[in-house]
Amino acid sequence: MENVYDALEMTLNDWQILFGNWGEQKFRASQVCQWIYAKKELTYDGMTNLSKTLREKLYDNVTINLPVMIRQQVSRDGTRKYLWHLNDGAKIESVLLNHGGHKTACISSQAGCPLKCAFCETGANGFTRNLTRGEILGQFLMMEKINGGNINNIVFMGMGEPLLNEDNVLSAIRSLNDKNMRSLGARHITISTSGIAPGIEDLSDFEIPIRLSLSLHAPNDSLRSKIMPVNKQYPLQKLIASLRRYRERTGERITIEYALIDGVNDSPECAYETAALLDGLEPYINIIPFNPIPSRPDLRRSSQGRIKAFCAVLGEMKIEYELRKERGTDIMAACGQLAGARD
Ligand code: SAH
Ligand code: SF4
Repeated sequence: MENVYDALEMTLNDWQILFGNWGEQKFRASQVCQWIYAKKELTYDGMTNLSKTLREKLYDNVTINLPVMIRQQVSRDGTRKYLWHLNDGAKIESVLLNHGGHKTACISSQAGCPLKCAFCETGANGFTRNLTRGEILGQFLMMEKINGGNINNIVFMGMGEPLLNEDNVLSAIRSLNDKNMRSLGARHITISTSGIAPGIEDLSDFEIPIRLSLSLHAPNDSLRSKIMPVNKQYPLQKLIASLRRYRERTGERITIEYALIDGVNDSPECAYETAALLDGLEPYINIIPFNPIPSRPDLRRSSQGRIKAFCAVLGEMKIEYELRKERGTDIMAACGQLAGARD
């Protein structure tokens, strides 16, 4: 008989209900979750504070379904990229970054992405489906298991648009944050979005104060719609309104991602426009040198001179920014380079 339940798909409450139905005590649910999420014990045999009978019952009824690692690549800078096989054959990638001992997991929320931003390889490769909460959590737990230690931060900057898979992403975040599960602090969790305004509105009211990153990449509607088709659905006026509301409701500063593409969005005028657009939001801008992608050889990284000139304008306009270092480009692990299905 096939198992009825899938461990990573279950919230703590689901476990408590199941154990209640089995006549087990409630705290047993927390024990199992501690084993899985905190200790990365991913087999019931190893859950030594549970009775043999309960372990057997779990073995018969609840599968611990995990993504299967089919490739691990290590970059010159220590960045690791993982290719996972999911149950139905879908392939996704995740990345583990290491900054002086601090580890950040870059996780996928969808297999592919439907939004087709011009500069992104994930978008160029099409969309398969949303990931389940268990598939999202599975990437993180497997990376912790493989690397033998806790990962400090999680960012939803892998494949896909997290706010188009909001329920599963938020459910996964609740479990990561839960004291009885992974207990990862809210400040260590970041959602990056291409600008799904209603999703940003929802995050303004989300009970866990996670961080928000917006992929802006262009400061006016005509240019933004050209390189990010999602802008036609949620144009800048709507988008900025949702960011202002988020800022007011949460008091949080928003990070803005801006990848500089040669001759496309890297002029000093674009920098002035960006500063004006974000006026009053007190954003923190991450300037990312564009990472080249196979599907668009016509798009190139801006020269050092143009990057400097762009940043100089932001400085002059008193906007806080950081020029982000590229990571993992030699193994196609940098922002926008994940494709999953590529062999
Ligand atoms: N869909 C979400 C999160 C995944 S993309 C989003 O778009 O925000 C993660 C980040 O990589 C985003 O900021 C995205 O704009 C950026 N990105 C995509 N392609 C890139 C490229 N070729 N070079 C640099 N950054 C890129
Ligand atoms: Fe999707 Fe983000 Fe890539 Fe755009 S940048 S195609 S939203 S993953």
